[in-house]
Amino acid sequence: MRLRRGQKPTRRLAHVWNEANCTACGACIIACTATNAPEMMHREEKGWNSLASNIRRIESANAQGRPTMLLNQCQHCEDAPCVHTCPFGAVYYNDDGLVAIDERLCIGCSYCVAACPYNVRWMHPDNGLPKKCMGQACLDLVAANQQPACVQACPANARDFGDLNDPNSSVTQTLRRLPNRVLLEKAGTKPKYFIVESAS
Ligand code: SF4
Ligand code: SF4
Ligand code: SF4
Repeated sequence: MRLRRGQKPTRRLAHVWNEANCTACGACIIACTATNAPEMMHREEKGWNSLASNIRRIESANAQGRPTMLLNQCQHCEDAPCVHTCPFGAVYYNDDGLVAIDERLCIGCSYCVAACPYNVRWMHPDNGLPKKCMGQACLDLVAANQQPACVQACPANARDFGDLNDPNSSVTQTLRRLPNRVLLEKAGTKPKYFIVESAS
């Protein structure tokens, strides 16, 4: 359900990615596309080094020259520039604390894509509308009390999803127990995509 201005969400659902557990197998990326944009499977799109997906795989090297990999996706910010920027109210917070898109209100102006400091939105080449995590198919899974597709697909216990407001949820307990970080903390967006830095 869409939150009204100033209303607090009932839950604060968040993603956790454990980079120490991750084997870079790519199963989450494939599952995300197969679930949320199946029409993009087996298509090669310009600008993507991998499958077009709501998860971006970013490869680089650390100061010692060793290869590193980051899985980046919508952070479901609690102070989200994309929500503030959309002139048509098409981007909104729902009562699970997730940032969602109402495609019926969206005209494809791409202001939200430009506003996102995490560069996690992409424009669908077929309909010209923005896409990001969570896709409607994953919202439907969550509404049916299931985990999102990426969490279900991960064979390495490197992904989790749950309620930060629940002290007993697995995400809350993991974040309490293990060192973790968020991306671009100084941007002030209050992101809810947590990167755990040691194996669990
Ligand atoms: S990560 Fe980007 S798209 Fe996601 S809520 Fe934050 S600003 Fe919006
Ligand atoms: S929650 Fe769903 S939409 Fe988001 S990254 Fe995972 S599979 Fe993709
Ligand atoms: S499915 Fe799990 S192990 Fe594989 S790339 Fe995704 S997070 Fe990493």
